[in-house]
Amino acid sequence: MEKLIMIKYGELSTKKANINLFLKQLKDNLSFALEDLDVEIKFDKGRMFISLKKDNFEEVEEALNHVFGIHEYDIAYKFNDKNFDKIANFVLKLVKQKVFNTFKVVTKRSDKNYPISSMDFSRQIGAVILKNIEGVKVDIHEPELLVSIEIRMDAVYIYFNSEKGIGGYPVGVAGKGLLMLSGGIDSPVAGYMAIKRGVKLECIYFESPPHTSIEAKNKVLELASKLALYNNDIKVHIIRFTDIQQAIYQNCPHAYLVTIMRRMMYRIAERIARMNNCKILVNGESIGQVASQTLTSMNVINETVRIPVIRPVSCFDKLEIIDFAKKIGTYETSILPYEDCCTIFVPEHPVINPTFEEAREYEKNIDYEKMIYEAIKNHEVIRISLKEKVKEFEDIL
Ligand code: ATP
Ligand code: MG
Repeated sequence: MEKLIMIKYGELSTKKANINLFLKQLKDNLSFALEDLDVEIKFDKGRMFISLKKDNFEEVEEALNHVFGIHEYDIAYKFNDKNFDKIANFVLKLVKQKVFNTFKVVTKRSDKNYPISSMDFSRQIGAVILKNIEGVKVDIHEPELLVSIEIRMDAVYIYFNSEKGIGGYPVGVAGKGLLMLSGGIDSPVAGYMAIKRGVKLECIYFESPPHTSIEAKNKVLELASKLALYNNDIKVHIIRFTDIQQAIYQNCPHAYLVTIMRRMMYRIAERIARMNNCKILVNGESIGQVASQTLTSMNVINETVRIPVIRPVSCFDKLEIIDFAKKIGTYETSILPYEDCCTIFVPEHPVINPTFEEAREYEKNIDYEKMIYEAIKNHEVIRISLKEKVKEFEDIL
């Protein structure tokens, strides 16, 4: 008998056309996540099996809970003998260690040559349990103990009530996206949601030193490292935005400061995305949350780019986003009180319904193409890996 973790990947199996791509990505991601945990991963049709070499189930479980694409996982007992009586004895021994009143047996048989049908097998095992354990009953709708048996080609696998995985698609299958990551509550949640759909993220952060502090930057890196847990690792592009913001402040009507500032952010983000093979921008905008997120504002800001902009939390209430942030563990970092570049130059009365014409007209007051070029040329890249923080500067242009 061998004790293993058996991985199931629900939604993936519906993606027939891409299944091989999905599985390969999941295998790679699992291998990466479990790399240091002294386990052996085996891949068998429709399932993946992890054998532990030491008693570190909790650590392994913690790692599995950060891998998207896992629908369910179980602690499974592998039994190499296919003789019915021997299996029944072994199942009984395991079941006797459980505390329950009601149970149900479910059998799957991928070894089609096995002489007993799945239904009969379940019934016969059920009968053995009823006969040997006093006071227990079968409940096929809501059993306290679910006894699952898989008769596979190589062996028989027995497992009980399953643990839910975090679902989604393996990160990477959808390609890459660039997350506009501020230090706020919304953008890390938006990032998590995009990763869950298989998008491998890079991040872009706009800083305005000396108006924004090193603490504000570290907070963003901390948030990025929380996302890195799901993303395998993560790259953060840091853009010095001070000159551009100051130029806007000095040369544009203040009601349009935020509109124009965000148009610049979008332009830079699109270019960084294209340079890094990211197919979408992702951000934490939410309809109506602030003046720059009215539908009119979104139109005026969005016209500056052609790349698709995905806004995963656009239709969530703030309280729903907060709940989500608490669940994924980013909330406590997000509420640390460091200023963001957006909050510094915010006018008292930002325009709620900006017009295309005015935004285009006012931004002509600054030589923004040159400034954007400079900001991109001088930008800093920090790569956060799960194991270490590696800082590197890239010479891009
Ligand atoms: P969050 O929305 O993340 O809580 P916030 O409320 O401070 O932060 P908003 O002003 O609502 O940010 O901006 C909307 C979105 O624009 C953010 O969710 C983020 O995706 C992006 N954004 C804002 N500021 C920055 C920044 N300094 N760097 C990168 N992206 C930013
Ligand atoms: Mg916000």
